[in-house]
Amino acid sequence: MPELPEVETVRRGLADHVEGRRIVAVEVLHPRSVRRQLGGAADLTGRLLGRPVAGVHRRGKYLWLDIGDHTDSFPLVVHLGMSGQMLITRVGDPDHVHLRIRATLDDGNELRFVDQRTFGGWHVDEYAGPVASRAPAPPGRLPESIAHIAPDPFDPAFDVGAVIAAMAARHSEIKRVLLDQTVISGVGNIYADEALWRSRIHGGRGADRLSRAKLTELVAAVTAVMGEALAVGGTSFDALYVNVNGQSGYFERSLNAYGREGEPCRRCGAIMRREQFMNRSSYYCPRCQRRASARTPAPRTATPPTATPPTARKQTPPVRVVAHAPRAATARDGTKREGMTQQP
Ligand SMILES: [Zn+2]
Repeated sequence: MPELPEVETVRRGLADHVEGRRIVAVEVLHPRSVRRQLGGAADLTGRLLGRPVAGVHRRGKYLWLDIGDHTDSFPLVVHLGMSGQMLITRVGDPDHVHLRIRATLDDGNELRFVDQRTFGGWHVDEYAGPVASRAPAPPGRLPESIAHIAPDPFDPAFDVGAVIAAMAARHSEIKRVLLDQTVISGVGNIYADEALWRSRIHGGRGADRLSRAKLTELVAAVTAVMGEALAVGGTSFDALYVNVNGQSGYFERSLNAYGREGEPCRRCGAIMRREQFMNRSSYYCPRCQRRASARTPAPRTATPPTATPPTARKQTPPVRVVAHAPRAATARDGTKREGMTQQP
């Protein structure tokens, strides 16, 4: 999934092209792309037709258009999913193979939703909060489906102290906490690995075992790395994350951890490793990012849980690569495993 820098790149591009424009036609070409809309394609089309786009907003990885005017407004939530793209083209340009929704604007441009794998889609939502204050939509107003998402580091509502306190209270691996969008939003697998590498923390360490100073360093690293990625249009690791003109960002050239298995750490030269975590891959330096205390041997490669019982660990000579049992499938915080194991 695209993370904050990629979604913000899209948001900015959209804002340049659709703010103040009126939607004069809507065409839904695939029912799956409107499956979150209760009334389906006809309902979505009816809600959008003839309405102006007042703004384009984002919280974390979530994007929505504010549709309407000073008398009435509602959010059109855009799920990019795994492969969703929001593109601006001219009317009459050839259709993309995976074009799912087309919204024609009153200036001769089209807003196109292209989504190869159809995990994404559009749906009209309501703003959270009292009905009486729904129009006009004030700044900071969130769609109901996004209201539980925590502020991201670039949000004026982001409270560093509160986020660090929330992290320190979690009896869970720090990478899992970073990926929990109700604690801090916008961070996905790529920027979590990058921030953990920068702050020299192994993602498997317990959040409640890290010092406040270390957590502060980590949040600063998250903010810095996402800011740097945003400055170059984000990361296009799988070539699907593009801006509204179809162009990719190029932060992947600057990645220090993600995707660098087998390559030397840019800080210490140790060979970078990959291990499975939450059905994803985690990339880290075994020397800079120790799993536990400095006395522990270098972090181990993942093996099946039956390979070595936990009691066998102490008997294993420290010079060997020690097997360990991966964490249980369901974490204490109830985070579910989703889908099949994926290797980027
Ligand atoms: Zn290193």
